[in-house]
Amino acid sequence: MRSLSYIRAKTVREATEAFAAAGEGACYISGGTTLYDLMKLGVERPHHLIDIASLEGADRIDTGGDVLFFGAGALMADVAEDEVVRRDYPVLAESLSKAASQQLRNMATVGGNLLQRTRCPYFRNGTIGAYPCNKREPGSGCAAIGGLDRTQAVLGVSDACTAVSPGDWPVALTAMDARIQLQGPTGERTIPIAEFYLLPGKTPHFEFAIMPGEIVTGISVPKTEAGRRSTYLKVRDRESYAFALASAAVALAMDGDHVRRAHIALGGVATRPWRAREAESLLNGRAIDAEIALAAGRAAFADARAGKHNAFKIELGARTLADAIMTAGRKMQ
Ligand code: SF4
Repeated sequence: MRSLSYIRAKTVREATEAFAAAGEGACYISGGTTLYDLMKLGVERPHHLIDIASLEGADRIDTGGDVLFFGAGALMADVAEDEVVRRDYPVLAESLSKAASQQLRNMATVGGNLLQRTRCPYFRNGTIGAYPCNKREPGSGCAAIGGLDRTQAVLGVSDACTAVSPGDWPVALTAMDARIQLQGPTGERTIPIAEFYLLPGKTPHFEFAIMPGEIVTGISVPKTEAGRRSTYLKVRDRESYAFALASAAVALAMDGDHVRRAHIALGGVATRPWRAREAESLLNGRAIDAEIALAAGRAAFADARAGKHNAFKIELGARTLADAIMTAGRKMQ
């Protein structure tokens, strides 16, 4: 039996002060849909839980200003069902409604969802010494490399870790150039989502550009006409309640039938939400047809590196992106 303390904070300041006072083993919790899971598996072993689910104003959704703003405590279900988000930014709504189950979306927050941990089966086996995992125990090795790697990443991998970044919402936010608001003991800051997720490199245990004691307080998304012509396509082993084998978020700003600016990100295939710049460059200035869409899909995977059992993800990912491009291209502005 391990002892565990719990407090519920009402303000960000109260939460960060409680975090600092608690010292080692302090952990924020909001919806709890990831953390409780990992605690049961023995992967996370916090000593002090600071509940930030009830922070004042944390669930604010504001689509009326210059940017879309989502408080970190807004529920996934509420953002997915927001009328403006559904109409003008379907890529955001679809990425949420295709994630998890309705019950989980009613509990999980859009801020917490950014911090989901990988589904790598070796990482999730918290039995001490069962499998080496550099993410769980730095320097111990990686059981997935040369092991059961069917669901592992093919983009952004390193010799230390090939774990897939599991989210859908972060992929859509990456395509849409979102910014993440953080608040901690030293004040507030905002960073582009591209800087929020770290590549594994030699230190896969560092996953997020978040400092000890910092809280994600909000997410802002620039408004763009490309939002209306957007989609999120997710391919998985079963159509309901499964993580992506490959996914693509696509938004297109068009001049007539030519792409003026493509926004593309990939999920299920990479170690972080993956901005597909090569695919974007290939599409920009071109009219869309099936051939160019597949060429963009292939360009996105030009640097892919497969393991023993996951090479199928390269073709699957390219075709998923091609399908998403065609779907977005057919939408009316
Ligand atoms: Fe751990 Fe990453 Fe290897 Fe999975 S792929 S076992 S998370 S180091």
